[in-house]
Formats: sequence, structure tokens, C-alpha cells
Amino acid sequence: MAQVFVGLGSNLSNPVKQINRALASLERLTDTSVKSCSKLYGSAPQGPQNQPDFVNAICLLETLLSPMELLSALQGIEQTQGRVKKRHWGERLIDLDILLFDNLTLSTPELTIPHSEVSNRDFVLIPLFEIAPDLILPNQGSLRDLIDQLETTYLYPLSLSTDLT
Ligand code: ADP
Ligand code: MG
Repeated sequence: MAQVFVGLGSNLSNPVKQINRALASLERLTDTSVKSCSKLYGSAPQGPQNQPDFVNAICLLETLLSPMELLSALQGIEQTQGRVKKRHWGERLIDLDILLFDNLTLSTPELTIPHSEVSNRDFVLIPLFEIAPDLILPNQGSLRDLIDQLETTYLYPLSLSTDLT
């Protein structure tokens, strides 16, 4: 079984509902189980500012799927949920990213692991710390040190759990 951290994000059409709906789909994935999830966080957009705040969470999955199989499965969930992507770093109904896949490093046109945004994004690092405080990232050191290096944070707790936790 591979241990995989997946990031969930949404800022359209009731984001909390979108995240919980994606989570329910993750729980139904073949050969995969959802082991734990962070709380939900709000975050100010880091790309274009004229869009709603995001809701973000992180889940830990165990899966027998390969990285590419999991990516396809996540993209299937995004499509089913009716994802619209309007612009780079812009608003989206649901975004599901493979953040870490065991200690694998991979760089192909379709898939970069660890995800290219893992090491400098507060909305990834802080929820990750909540469920895996002692994590060491491939080639990037400890999660704790990466969080110490964050200059600012746009993140705020929503005092809301996912439906799973
Ligand atoms: P964003 O980078 O804002 O999440 P998208 O969700 O539209 O943008 O993803 C664009 C492409 O990123 C996808 O088609 C996918 O092939 C690629 N990609 C590369 N690495 C990853 C990863 N670790 N997890 C998810 N998608 C990835
Ligand atoms: Mg994505």
C-alpha cells in the first residue's frame, strides 16, 4: 500500500460542500482508503485577487493504485463534479492534487511528485502538519522546517471538519 497525501481545494459553488463531495468520491475509489483528513481551512487567493477565498484540506490515502492511475481517478472526480477552470491560479469548483506519493519523486509531462507547489504553500504545509507533523519530504527536508520558512500566511482555520473527521 502506498501512502499518498492529496490536496483538495475549491472556491466556487459552496466550497465546503464541494470538498465533502470530493471526499465521498475518494472514499469510494477502488483499492483505496481514506485514512485521515485535516480540518478545513480558508485562504485568500494567491493568484488573481478578484475571486472568492479558497477552502482547502488535505487527506491521507492508502492505495494500491499507481501514481498515474490515481491521477486519472482524481481527474475523473474533478470532471464528474463539473470542474471549470477559468484561468491560471484562478477560481475552480474542485482541484485534487497528488502532493506526495510515498517517498517517490517523479517528473513527467502529466505528473510531478512531490507536487511543485508543496514546499512553499501555506495551504498545503499547514494542513499537512496537522495530520503528519513529523513528515520528511523527498529532497526538501522536514515539514517543520518548511513551515518555519514561510514568510506570510494567508490561511485561517474555519472551525469546520470534513464529513470524515
Ligand atoms: P493546478 O496546477 O492549478 O492544480 P490543474 O489542476 O488544472 O492545475 O492541473 C494541471 C495539470 O497538472 C494536470 O493536467 C496534471 O496532469 C498536472 N499535474 C502534474 N503534477 C500533478 C500532481 N502531482 N497532481 C495533480 N496534477 C498534476
Ligand atoms: Mg490540480
